Amino acid sequence: MPTLIDGRAVADRILADVKERAAALVARRGRPPGLAVVLVGEDPASRAYVRSKAKTCAALGFYSVKHELPADTTQEALLALVETLNLDPLVDGILVQSPLPKGLDESAVVHALDPAKDVDGFHPMNVAKLALDDPTGFAPCTPLGCQRLLLEAGVETSGARVVILGRSLIVGKSLALLLMQKGQGADATVTVAHSRTRDLAAVTRDADVVVAAIGRPRTLRAEHVREGAVVIDVGINRVDDPSDKRGYRLVGDVDFDAVAPQCRAITPVPGGVGPMTIAMLMQNTLKAYGQRTEG
Ligand code: NAP
Repeated sequence: MPTLIDGRAVADRILADVKERAAALVARRGRPPGLAVVLVGEDPASRAYVRSKAKTCAALGFYSVKHELPADTTQEALLALVETLNLDPLVDGILVQSPLPKGLDESAVVHALDPAKDVDGFHPMNVAKLALDDPTGFAPCTPLGCQRLLLEAGVETSGARVVILGRSLIVGKSLALLLMQKGQGADATVTVAHSRTRDLAAVTRDADVVVAAIGRPRTLRAEHVREGAVVIDVGINRVDDPSDKRGYRLVGDVDFDAVAPQCRAITPVPGGVGPMTIAMLMQNTLKAYGQRTEG
């Protein structure tokens, strides 16, 4: 049987460590780390994410402020709020929950963020720092969480062949940059596959580690994975399930039942990468706080 990589347990340990380090810094610097979350519109999944971020902030003793704006908010109003938060001395991290309602320019909003408060890691300055191996930048939280899970599960990435399915900035492309850096939890030989990749199974079967981040339920099947591989499933997909009281359940991009028996280790969905994303957000917020209050 494969090892089940328990993201919830790892995330809990990271959050306990963040809480302890934050408390030590607060004693010296006089105020807690602060995270501002901006939610525009009514998307239920986004609402749930924002709620859980606020709850986690409270559990860690962070200051958190939530701005909920209606779906018809103008671009100007949203940019004005970002500017206010950029200037707020109690706010170390700003997160504008994605996706924004139609009509709002997400890229312009990301460009408007102070890069020193961009704890999501999407500002061009932070993307450049990631590509340049500059540790003062902020890497996106989900790829950071995937890397940390591999480390915590004792998976050797140095020299390993890693195939990542998906080339988005939020996951695939950023994870590729992280894993090809030099150092611990990196030094991998990385291949990034996407919807135009020819003979996907031939590419993924060659991998020691496969990361699926494509947003299509149960797409990575047994024939894609070689015996003894490690599989990280980033996907979060709702599939209809009349037996569940919500009418749906969450599944990953990996056909877990078919793939797991031949893996050395695999993440479940839910309870794998998901909890790590929020833990890394808190870690990035503490890092921003540390950088902004040092000296
Ligand atoms: P995205 O922006 O839609 O990107 C999907 C990527 O997958 C694209 O690069 C696409 O290729 C590629 N792709 C689609 N079908 C494919 C196939 N059959 N074979 C190979 N590649 C294929 O999605 P995303 O934002 O990266 O998210 C991916 C998944 O991760 C989603 O399920 C999302 O919910 C989940 N997610 C989870 C977390 C978390 O906290 N756990 C965070 C973020 C995202 P092209 O570029 O050619 O179109």
